[in-house]
Amino acid sequence: MERKHTLSQELFRRAEQVLPGGVNSPVRSGRSVGVTPFFVKSAAGCRLEDEDGNVYIDYVGSWGPLIAGHAHPEVVEAVRQAATRGTSYGIPCRLEVEMAEKVVSMVPSMDMVRMVNSGTEATMSAIRLARGYTGRPKLIKFDGCYHGHSDCLLVKGGSGLLTLGIPGSPGVPDEIVSHTVSLPYNDLDAVETAFRKMGDQIACVIVEPVAGNMGTVPPAPGFLEGLRRLCDTHGALLIFDEVITGFRLAPGGAQQRFGVLPDLTCLGKIIGGGLPVGAYGGRRKIMEHIAPTGNVYQAGTLSGNPLAMAAGLAMLNILSRPGVYETLEERAAYLEAGLARAAEEAGVPVTLNRVGSMGCAFFNGEPVRDFQSALQSNTEAYGIYFREMLARGVYLAPSQFECFFVGLAHDREALDETIAAAGEALQVVK
Ligand code: PLP
Repeated sequence: MERKHTLSQELFRRAEQVLPGGVNSPVRSGRSVGVTPFFVKSAAGCRLEDEDGNVYIDYVGSWGPLIAGHAHPEVVEAVRQAATRGTSYGIPCRLEVEMAEKVVSMVPSMDMVRMVNSGTEATMSAIRLARGYTGRPKLIKFDGCYHGHSDCLLVKGGSGLLTLGIPGSPGVPDEIVSHTVSLPYNDLDAVETAFRKMGDQIACVIVEPVAGNMGTVPPAPGFLEGLRRLCDTHGALLIFDEVITGFRLAPGGAQQRFGVLPDLTCLGKIIGGGLPVGAYGGRRKIMEHIAPTGNVYQAGTLSGNPLAMAAGLAMLNILSRPGVYETLEERAAYLEAGLARAAEEAGVPVTLNRVGSMGCAFFNGEPVRDFQSALQSNTEAYGIYFREMLARGVYLAPSQFECFFVGLAHDREALDETIAAAGEALQVVK
């Protein structure tokens, strides 16, 4: 079981000299779970191989995009073909139209979509549009949700902010976040009170319909419906940040799964098939406020990039095949049951939250329904679990406050290997 990490360690030493913390995104550093990162040489299906030749079953999937597995032949071939025709035009091309048609055909609340390059750009632009459309300044978000790193959303955020214990960020002026109201997730009363106090100032409510950045936290029954009702009553827009849940929880994302339609939807991750893509969209009468039809400005040199569109389209075509979401559900449920059994046998109190193919193990044994209860998880226990799983060839998110993602490449063999590893790892956690 002893694994060598000589080449990864050497690369990390070099990386630390030239990249802050040795990484290009904070949670990759592995600090909160007491490891330095391994460096990937290649990946295929559900497995990663590092520079030292160690192989891992991957439950991070590049933080969500790789729902069909790494280097899926159809995605790779689509990118290869597109690249031979040029890597960027800055002029409209056919793939952009085909991609937009595909996206609006899948996402129930979208008539129109604007492609961008990341989830951060999608949420930032959707909020600008909501403010421009309503003429109001304020936004409501929820503690522990993460919507990317644009200034106005860096308030009580999840993901890396939560992992590193950063409640906001230096560099964001107070005046900018003074329009951001952050409330407890799943607390409809708090939202109602905020609307009662300042309803005529609130442009939008932005929410992860299933929270995935404080670990996995499902919406309480009635929460999403209540947000819809309050937004309608007070003339605010409801924005679903489906950067994680889009195309993961159903072809039409969480809005399809839960039957609640937002005014605007933000997409990222899966929509790019592993290339840098994001998107935001909604009803025509709102989307037409974006330049050039309207005057809410938003633009991008590489937006609608042909390689990214080709990869995304290939991915969405794979996900449009019959039985895909049933397979994801069945595999994730199998994994969840195996993990629950392993925890019980080890006598370790674990709370497993799962919605479809996203999930997470909290180490407290209590229900986790919001940021405060997520914070009660024993992060040291998670750290041990993470390291023990890694030593057994299973790569989980290097933070308690992220998800595991099950994909189409996680076959029975990989799932059984994972459950067996968890059985041993949890004995050590105990
Ligand atoms: N929204 C959610 C729900 C996310 O999970 C993330 C990233 O993890 C983002 C937005 C930001 O996306 P990106 O990292 O592509 O900017």
